[in-house]
Amino acid sequence: MSILFLDQSGELGGAELCLVDLANSLKDRCLVGLFADGAHYRLLQQMGIPAQVLTTKALPVSKESGVLQGLGSLRQLIPLVVTVANLSRQHQVIYANTQKALVVGGLASMISQRPLVFHLHDILSADHFSATNRRIAIMLANHFAALVIANSEASRDAFIQAGGKPDRVQVVYNGFDPQRYQVSTLETQQLRQQLGLSGQFVVGHFSRLSPWKGQHILIEALTHCPNPVTVLLVGSALFGENAYVKQLHQQIAQLGLMNRVRFLGFRTDVPQLMSACDLIAHTSTAPEPFGRVIIEAMLVGRPVVAAAAGGAVELLVPGETGWLTPPADPQELAAVIQYCFEHPDRTAKIAQQAHHIARERFDLKAINHRIDQLLEQVVTI
Ligand code: UDP
Repeated sequence: MSILFLDQSGELGGAELCLVDLANSLKDRCLVGLFADGAHYRLLQQMGIPAQVLTTKALPVSKESGVLQGLGSLRQLIPLVVTVANLSRQHQVIYANTQKALVVGGLASMISQRPLVFHLHDILSADHFSATNRRIAIMLANHFAALVIANSEASRDAFIQAGGKPDRVQVVYNGFDPQRYQVSTLETQQLRQQLGLSGQFVVGHFSRLSPWKGQHILIEALTHCPNPVTVLLVGSALFGENAYVKQLHQQIAQLGLMNRVRFLGFRTDVPQLMSACDLIAHTSTAPEPFGRVIIEAMLVGRPVVAAAAGGAVELLVPGETGWLTPPADPQELAAVIQYCFEHPDRTAKIAQQAHHIARERFDLKAINHRIDQLLEQVVTI
């Protein structure tokens, strides 16, 4: 079976990294069509995954768009839909990995009569999307998609609550290659030295810089933690959130934390950097659809504290495989940081348990196999 994957993003967010791992296992029988050039395309090329940039014109629809903007963008979509419809005739399934890919893939599937699969990496709620965007996504998924793969129960539940057809949805978590998260002690020590982290208790935050990812909550928490505790912020503003980055720098300056917070920008050596941390913090203030960084921390064998909302609560059991704190609660977060700082043995044991469970539950091979089976079912309907 051959698959035409579609993704709107030139950047490497969680949905794109998930797609790269899936397409890599199917690279002898897939094409990834992108709606933007950039780091995503370059990574696919580097990995030898067939990929094509189908347009470089930005589609003028955002998560907050209303009806008029949506209709206005239709004219721009038509040439792209025609291109995708033509390409899809050489494939058996169209696999839309993002919302705009659902729009284009849905219309193309109607023309080429190829089944459409929609991988839902979002929580379709008011926290994340305008009412118009939610309505359009649900209408297209209900009308065109033979199958919706939700990346968590939280994403599935929000989809159904917004009007999505329950019998179309299957929950499949993201998969991870455990080998990629094995980092040697020597490598970890060298990296800590290079980054000047010796003698510090390092709390790492791995995410694009965006208000709802809550980096400001971790900075606020730091004011309640003793001095050896420092923060590494790994990630950049992928989708133009420059005002938030400025706000973070101002907050750090106002709180006098310049020597205790470091910005490392977007990095491709996440496992190594995680291994150089003592604790990984996930601080989303709105429900997280899945939370790849939580599993990645577990696979590296580092303790993780996550904001208790959305997919994150499905990924770890508090006190057994990590910690959960209420979203946007710096004091509770600081209390967990303090606990981990003061109880390294107990913390290491929890990280070890989490490591073991994450390897079993989120194994890339098993998860890709499950998706392949679901695609086979779609093709044979
Ligand atoms: N990530 C990365 N480099 C960075 C920061 C983050 O490769 O500098 C990766 C991170 O390891 C994770 C993904 O980006 O795999 C983010 O996925 P997540 O589900 O946590 O959030 P999303 O971006 O999907 O909202």
